[in-house]
Amino acid sequence: MTLFPTTIAGSLPKPAWLAEQNKLWPAWKQSGEALAKAKLDATAAVIKLQEDAGIDIVTDGEMSRQHFVHGFLEYVSGIDFARKIEMGIRGDRYKAMVPTVTGALTLKGRVHEAEAKRARAATKHKIKFTLPGPMTIIDTIADAYYGDRVKMAFAVAKLLNQEARALQADGIDMIQIDEPAFNVYMDEVRDWGVEALETAIDGLTCETAVHICYGYGIKANNDWKTTLGGEWRQYETTFPVLAKSKVGHVVIEARNSHVPMELLSLLKGKTIQIGVIDVATDEIESPEDVAGVIEAAMKFVPKDKIVASTNCGMAPMREDIAAAKLKALGAGAALARRKFA
Ligand code: ZN
Repeated sequence: MTLFPTTIAGSLPKPAWLAEQNKLWPAWKQSGEALAKAKLDATAAVIKLQEDAGIDIVTDGEMSRQHFVHGFLEYVSGIDFARKIEMGIRGDRYKAMVPTVTGALTLKGRVHEAEAKRARAATKHKIKFTLPGPMTIIDTIADAYYGDRVKMAFAVAKLLNQEARALQADGIDMIQIDEPAFNVYMDEVRDWGVEALETAIDGLTCETAVHICYGYGIKANNDWKTTLGGEWRQYETTFPVLAKSKVGHVVIEARNSHVPMELLSLLKGKTIQIGVIDVATDEIESPEDVAGVIEAAMKFVPKDKIVASTNCGMAPMREDIAAAKLKALGAGAALARRKFA
């Protein structure tokens, strides 16, 4: 196997013919069958883009989803999208209008079958597929049915598991659960969050990953980050719990991050998909920048357990900048292989 294989956190910018650009909640530019076809064409196009940039483990770029949580919830019965209430989310960091759970949660059918199959047909590379995590999902919906946050989280985890198993059967090689909420509710991560994560990946024989993160460069996140001090040590409590979990890979930011690199040693045994590309700046990393982050990580992670990735999703980024950053990622990992093999 290649040393320092490359991947991305998950999302990529959508082409202008598919959706509005540079937005977290872009409106689609097509509808009906034309939209369904455009999503799949975009999926194939971003896979080619990743292959050409030297990305080893590719994703569908989340081309078929308007938003990474609601892209899943659209396919879940038991949620009343017309009944929206204002709720403080991510530990009250920001307010959002969220839909209400009014009945038992079940899947209406397959969620990501079309894009998973199109992705599989488009490449011989390994494919990673992302799903929002149970804790993050329940932090984005109001409950008028379960009466218990944790009970609702496990109901969600079972639905995720149902879709994850089907994705594996579609030929997906790695399922990644995105849990930005793991960085907000640290006690709950320990008490039930990891168990809910394990429920979501239960029985999978493909590779598994969890992405935890400090969020996109939106204002509410940036304001929150200024309160965290010079060194971000939130992961100090989360990493030892994740180290004991059944998940295979942990996907985290490192480029321009305030997270002290030595915390990675708390993830003993895990493969680390380390962010060597900053998604919060338009500045393009050099291959030396990328190799530099890999070298820093090597002090705390065995080199055969390092995968080079992006800090977070790139959905709201300019297309040309995202493409240049993918190339920097591919070239930087290649440089690291020559220097550190
Ligand atoms: Zn992220």
